[in-house]
Order: sequence, then C-alpha cells, then structure tokens
Amino acid sequence: MIPVFTPSIGEEELRNVKEAVESNWVSSKGKFIEEFEKKFADYCGCRYGIAVSNGTAALHLALACLGIGKGDEVIIPNFTMISTALAVCYTGAKPVFVDCQEDTGNIDVEKINEKINLRTKAILPVHIYGHPCDMDEINEIAKNNGLFVVEDAAEAHGAEYKQRKCGSLSDIGCFSFYANKLITTGEGGMLVTNSERIAERARYLKNIAFGKESRFFHDEIGFNYRMTNVQAAIGLGQMEKIDSFLKKKIENAQLYNSLLRNIPGIILPVERDYVKNSYWMYGIRFDERFGITKEEIKKILYEKGIDTRDFFTGMNEQPVFKRMGLQIGEEFPVSVKWALSGLYLPSGLNLKEEDIKYICWALKEIQNKGRDFNG
Ligand SMILES: *Cc1c(COP(=O)(O)O)cnc(C)c1O
Repeated sequence: MIPVFTPSIGEEELRNVKEAVESNWVSSKGKFIEEFEKKFADYCGCRYGIAVSNGTAALHLALACLGIGKGDEVIIPNFTMISTALAVCYTGAKPVFVDCQEDTGNIDVEKINEKINLRTKAILPVHIYGHPCDMDEINEIAKNNGLFVVEDAAEAHGAEYKQRKCGSLSDIGCFSFYANKLITTGEGGMLVTNSERIAERARYLKNIAFGKESRFFHDEIGFNYRMTNVQAAIGLGQMEKIDSFLKKKIENAQLYNSLLRNIPGIILPVERDYVKNSYWMYGIRFDERFGITKEEIKKILYEKGIDTRDFFTGMNEQPVFKRMGLQIGEEFPVSVKWALSGLYLPSGLNLKEEDIKYICWALKEIQNKGRDFNG
C-alpha cells in the first residue's frame, strides 16, 4: 500500500533524543526546547517561538493571549480541520464561518466584511493544504475594524506569501508538528510572533500561569500546554532537514501536476503567482467530466494499493455545531463542493517517482473506464 504520508525520522532525531533522555531532562526544561523554538522562529522570520503540546493548543493559547473570550466572535473559514473552530470554542467565544474561494479553498476574503459586528475580535485564516491566504486583504480588513489576525499555519510550514513565510504575516502564527505535518515532534505545536508582549504572555499562560513574584500564587487561569524536551529534541533533528522536506513536497506536486494535467475531470491544485505553495498534501478535485464518482475512485485506487483521504467536511456540517445552532440554514456552496469533490493523494516524504507515475497511470485508467462505461 502506498500510504498518504510517512514521516521521515532518522539518525539526527535519535542522537538528540538519546541526549535528552540521558540528561534526565525529559519534561519541559532542558536545552532542546529553547534551541528548537529559536530555530523554528528564525525559519519563519519571527523574533519569538513558543513551543506547545500540539497545534490545537497553539491556536487556543494564541486566542487566549489576545484576551478573546465569552461574548466575542472569531471569523474562521468554513472549510478547515475542526481544530480551528475548537480553539475558538475553548475560549468561550463563538466561531463564525465564512465560505471558501473556488480556486484555493482558502477563506473567501470578499465574504469576511459581512460577518463583522461589534462582537468580532479576530480573523483566523487557515492556509489550507499549504496555499497561503490573501493576507494583505485580510490584514487590511482587520486594520479597518480593529481586529487581531491569527494564522492557522498548521499546514503551511515553509509556504510563502510575497516572499514572506506563513506564520509571520499576522499577530501570531500557529503551527502543528503532528506526525503528518511537514516536520514532526510526534505531538507538538508552536506559536510564532514578533511581539515581545504576546510572547511573554504565551509563555506565562502555557505554564499554568505560575506567579511572577511568588511562584505558587496564581493570578489567572493558565494551561499546561508545555512541550517536552524529548519532543523538542526530535523537532530540532527535523529542522536539519526541513528544507529538503519542503523541496520534496514541491517536487512531488510538480510531477503530479505534469502527469495529471490533461485528464478531463481532474482539477489540479493552484499556486497563485505571488505565493509559494508548500503542497503539504497534494489534493485534487473531480468534476462530472471524470465520469465516475469519488467513492468509486477511492475504492478502485485502494484496490490498486493506493491510499487516499477525503478533503475536510465543512464546519457548517458538523453535528456539534449544528446542535449549538451556529449559522443554521446558511449555505456554504463552495466549501460543500470542495468537501464532496476533493481527495488527497499520497504525499509522503519517501514517495518515489515510480509511485507517482503509477498513481497517475491508475487515475488515467479509471477515467478511461469511466468514460467507456458512460458510452
Ligand atoms: C493539523 C491541524 C491542526 C491541529 O494540529 P494538532 O497538532 O493535531 O492539534 C490545526 N489546524 C489545521 C488546519 C491542521 O491541519
């Protein structure tokens, strides 16, 4: 089976982990944490990095640092992984969903203004599958309305918008280091920011808000969102290879693009000319010209030893949010279409050229059969 993703973990990580374990610093103190924070923040072009236990925690901590809570609203894309919405809910604020753009799948900036009211505190765009959002437009809307912007960059390590890295384009950038992200620490996440005040606040709140003067006197409800030194040891090993990982993702995408370009019914991922798409996952969409349903395509690919995944299901379709009565009856035609028509193909770091050729051949064959079948 060709898997959708396999992380690449090796000697560098083992060496660091061995050192971390042998040093006995296995919780959240130890030299690897700071080094990893510094390396990753540098990589993003940001002054501060604050390591946390996962990407969902990073998003929650970011919103908490900005003072977002009960009675507030945060604008997010309807087409995303649920973590984006959960983070807003954890603060007590309400997530407000906005439909996505037809070509990139990112939040439709044209539809943000109509969702802004006096309760709105922030916009939380997601660089979906590694394609950067329209950050100039988003930052402009935020500026005009006095809103914060936090990027969910969990899928966009290394992606660039007008030559600047995702995560560095707003008040706070949030990353995940889950096993299928560009780099991994097993579980893990990070906030990056250029604001010393936010960085300080994030460090304070992530560490159960230990008292500044007197350690065991707590002024606020903090969280334990600490990353361990062992996780950071893995992360630092991964940082030695992040450039080659990104290069591999882009090469995978270029080969897929060239082989799938002329198949009717397949819509390829885009890369606007002022961005660098990191192609976290190589996702394609099917339209009716393909001649066979996505469910069948998935099944046949699986029988041929090719694993795939559906695109995310929109937030408006989540039972939990329906029960909460969020935007009931509102339509999100573009994200619904994206969810129904999208599939991502194997995008691993160890994927071979032959694998990609085989996958593209399989898709062509399925398409030919579908066309014959439909006369
Ligand atoms: C992976 C991901 C997250 C959450 O990361 P975890 O580390 O799994 O908590 C958040 N947002 C998006 C868009 C993601 O893809």
